Amino acid sequence: MSEAAAVVTPPTTTEHLLGAGAHAADLPYAVSGDGVYIESLDGRRFLDGSSGALAANLGHGRKDIAAALAAQAEAIAFAHRTQFRNGPTEELAALIADAAPGDLERCLFVSSGSDANELALSLAARYWAARGEQGRTVVLARDRSYHGATLGALSLTGLAERREGMERYLLELARMPAPAPELTDDDEADLLRRVDAAFDVVADGALAAVMLEVVSGAAGGAIVPSNAYIERVRRRCAEAGALLIVDEVMTGFGRTGRAFACEHFGLEPDILTFGKGVSGGYGALAGVIARPAIADRLAGAGGVGLGHTYMNTPIASAVGLAASRITLDPEFLAEADQRGAELRALLRGEQLRRPEVITAVRGIGLMNAIDVVARDGAAAHRMGDLLGALREAGLILYPATPYHSGESRILTVMVAPPLVITPDEIRDLVERLRAGLDIYHR
Ligand code: PMP
Repeated sequence: MSEAAAVVTPPTTTEHLLGAGAHAADLPYAVSGDGVYIESLDGRRFLDGSSGALAANLGHGRKDIAAALAAQAEAIAFAHRTQFRNGPTEELAALIADAAPGDLERCLFVSSGSDANELALSLAARYWAARGEQGRTVVLARDRSYHGATLGALSLTGLAERREGMERYLLELARMPAPAPELTDDDEADLLRRVDAAFDVVADGALAAVMLEVVSGAAGGAIVPSNAYIERVRRRCAEAGALLIVDEVMTGFGRTGRAFACEHFGLEPDILTFGKGVSGGYGALAGVIARPAIADRLAGAGGVGLGHTYMNTPIASAVGLAASRITLDPEFLAEADQRGAELRALLRGEQLRRPEVITAVRGIGLMNAIDVVARDGAAAHRMGDLLGALREAGLILYPATPYHSGESRILTVMVAPPLVITPDEIRDLVERLRAGLDIYHR
């Protein structure tokens, strides 16, 4: 165990945690981390096979990022963006602008992916108001998508499971269909027709924005669309004169083997949102990056019109800068992409070995998912049972909502370890997966 464990003062209690759930007390108690491994208080060592929630992209216990964090905390942690400029924020924005697709170049930082999508939505609304096009009020978002938990972001989210209980508080948005895994040519042609139909029903001049996860994350699990799908959405959005907003909260900063998933498709959105990997899990940091034409129009109309206390803070930006200098390096990205291919090859080997247990392997870069056949039991507990069996085998994975969530036979989990994983550690991951699935199905 590392020295960091000395800061823990157990025994503590979950009694004062809201929403921790009945099983929280049984979870391992994390005390230290080292690369792709996390150690618990009782001395177990887990392989973090999903970077937590696809956030800890640089692995755990990094001294370089800890040092950047400590140095910035000592220098100046907080300076409000309306009162001071600060170096780390300006430098991080420049670094991201350099790596981002097309002419995206103006950043604003917030604290979560939900905040970033919320902000993107309001930037689009204020942009059209500033242009005097108040009639542009329709936002088109996808079925089977996840954009966050706050009211605007949840409104964008196309997962009934996540919206349950909140429907009457949410904004009314238009929907377009999402790509499904493993489409036949006929299915694909039908999908494109349904995309067209979704755009066709919006009145001329009424579409404000289209919101899109390029590669679907926890909604369906690492579903990579065809070029034709992305191209159709892009073209119809441009023809309608609407803004294209891309949600790269999960995919950005190297997760798919490129700086941003847009690169795989040559896609150049008007606004891109990011989160998770920008700080590699070392801070609560997210943001939006927009085209100058949008930023300039808003500046002319009095600015973005809203503020969060923790926008553009020196401390969060310093962490983001330390992490992003690593993740946006082309050599680092190429390595991560290669590791992703190795991981998928081994996962496909496991699928061949046990096709009755693993029914699908898919993904891009180190953003992957597997479909696992559920053993019998109460549906609500199946995912917990599967994750528990994997944990018993020393492997942590992250749940996704299966694409066909009506099909109760399938559980989808994300296999998305930190981008720093080595070939040996990939083998360790797959061995633990095999052992965990044996426990689950024994
Ligand atoms: N968008 C996508 C694609 C995500 O995967 C997530 C988080 N899973 C979010 C938005 C919301 O981010 P956060 O949880 O940081 O609010």
